[in-house]
Amino acid sequence: MLRKSELLPMIDKLAATCQGTVAEIAALLACEDHEVLAYLFAKAHGVREAAFGRDIYLRAIIEFSNICRCRCVYCGINRDNQKQQRYRMSGEEILALANTAIEAGYRTIVLQSGEDLWYGREVLGEIIKRIKTYDAKVAVTLSVGERSYEDYAYWRTCGADRYLIKHETADKSLYERLHPGHRLAERLACQKQLQALGYAMGSGFMVGLPGQTLEILAQDILLLQEMEVAMAGIGPFIPHPETILAAAAKGDIALTEKALAITRLLLPTVHLPATTALTVQGGRLGALAAGADVIMQKATPEDKQRLYEIYPRPVKEEYSLKEKRQLLITQLDQLGYKGV
Ligand code: SF4
Repeated sequence: MLRKSELLPMIDKLAATCQGTVAEIAALLACEDHEVLAYLFAKAHGVREAAFGRDIYLRAIIEFSNICRCRCVYCGINRDNQKQQRYRMSGEEILALANTAIEAGYRTIVLQSGEDLWYGREVLGEIIKRIKTYDAKVAVTLSVGERSYEDYAYWRTCGADRYLIKHETADKSLYERLHPGHRLAERLACQKQLQALGYAMGSGFMVGLPGQTLEILAQDILLLQEMEVAMAGIGPFIPHPETILAAAAKGDIALTEKALAITRLLLPTVHLPATTALTVQGGRLGALAAGADVIMQKATPEDKQRLYEIYPRPVKEEYSLKEKRQLLITQLDQLGYKGV
């Protein structure tokens, strides 16, 4: 365990050089000294402010299908969960939600689903093109998993701007235990293809996965850097009762916030959402203080949100999407941020 007198200059070094080793990052992740952590978060917040000012980017996310061909062992909608009621939105339904989100003021629409091949190349391409006709300046982000290079290329020509595809864990054997039938190398190959096609590529990982060590977490952060990601979703693992990890412990919020802050130091201009998983656990404010600059708001109707349960979370929509956005902007303003 390193002492305070060693950790404080290490934070300065990370911020000044954007370079860190596995051992240095793991030592900071292990630190529980309040003074050191306050310094880390203040530094990360300063780096965020230098990159983005007071702006917090608000995105609308539409979870359009909970049908998935994959068997990720932590995920409540994995294909082996026979108890899960499934849904698939029509193109018109997706477009109506996207239009509502654009009218509410969102400048980015995130289209997310399980790996559902019913939405073939042309079907999804048409949806992307139609959203762009509503407002060509609105960014379309896809989060639909591992697909062919030809699919990625076609969607890019249709106007898709960004693609989220997290690596989840940088440890090869842990990755393969969590994702039966899939390999980490394949996921990283998808990320490279997307970047080569000109997408802003977003990755990310979970904190607190069973079998994960602080060294693996440090490698997760360094992998984001190595892959030159434009966005990174970092959230705590939350066990789902209908998975084989039901009895596993939840990921730690404080550790997640430390991982966010270190990521901000090493990748100063990367977009870091205050992830839904972190927000569900009450960590949104902590995430903003640790350097997050993005908040995603659900544009998915409440009944479908309840069925899109990668991990358990309460769902209660009391406001329209426009009202939710306005409320969030007001809350952010009170905290000294500007929701855009
Ligand atoms: S995490 Fe994504 S790819 Fe994996 S089972 Fe869940 S929805 Fe499917």
